[in-house]
Amino acid sequence: MLYGSIELGGTNCNCAVGLQDGTIVKKVQFPTETPEITVRNVLNFFKENQVAAIGIGCFGPVNVDETSPDYGMLLDTPKKAWVNFPFLQQLREQLNVPIRLHTDVTVSGLGEMSASDKKETLLYITIGTGVGGGIILNGTLPNSSHHPEMGHVTLQRVEGDEMESACPFHANCFEGLASGTAIHKRWKQKGNELPSDHPAWEMEADYIAQGVCQFIFTLAPTQIIIGGGVMKQKNLLPMIHRKVQEKLGGYYFYDEIKDIEDFVILPRHGEDSALIGGLLLNAN
Ligand code: ZN
Repeated sequence: MLYGSIELGGTNCNCAVGLQDGTIVKKVQFPTETPEITVRNVLNFFKENQVAAIGIGCFGPVNVDETSPDYGMLLDTPKKAWVNFPFLQQLREQLNVPIRLHTDVTVSGLGEMSASDKKETLLYITIGTGVGGGIILNGTLPNSSHHPEMGHVTLQRVEGDEMESACPFHANCFEGLASGTAIHKRWKQKGNELPSDHPAWEMEADYIAQGVCQFIFTLAPTQIIIGGGVMKQKNLLPMIHRKVQEKLGGYYFYDEIKDIEDFVILPRHGEDSALIGGLLLNAN
């Protein structure tokens, strides 16, 4: 029996078929275009590859309330063509299989949980075009009508950083200061074009560490996974480790924090975390 998985991101849409244990058998990627074109591509893939059920990790904000008639509808996203688009509903009408959906970061967290030995309270953060976070509590998805928007917590500006925030809502939020979009805006170059010794990375590590510390103090996660395109800069993770330790100021109020290299990690499933999580969502 094959299951389906969809990762609907702001830039790309990935689809996969695989096993309920998270093993991917086949996957494809296409750009996230208008809702109509994207839905058509998804439907074509799942008409060629029949599945018993589908799990979706979707960019947000999105309605995650399974009891709501608008479950799976995109909310007030900066991607205007997608606002109020009933993504899950449209797929359900065309594919006669059960479909579940949560945010891309939560579903990525679910995928990472299968590789973690510290899965009690797992926090998944993405630093990409945007910034977001999802939490998996004791191995299950949060059973709540709304999802957090961790990318919009307020951070303190690094001295000398006068760039206008990349977030249209907030002058000093995590996403506005630390997303890939913010890096591009601040340095007039994309993150993947900046050399590893560029001052951009010290500043970036500071912002990410600030966000991480806020989540440590408010959520007490047992492990934090940081994914997303910006984390492809190899020097960044060790800098984040150092800055998290500095900012905690020696206040290690539970044991997991002490082993920082095993506490704040990159995704063990690489770029497949969300697709694997989507397959697992069918069993969760
Ligand atoms: Zn914001």
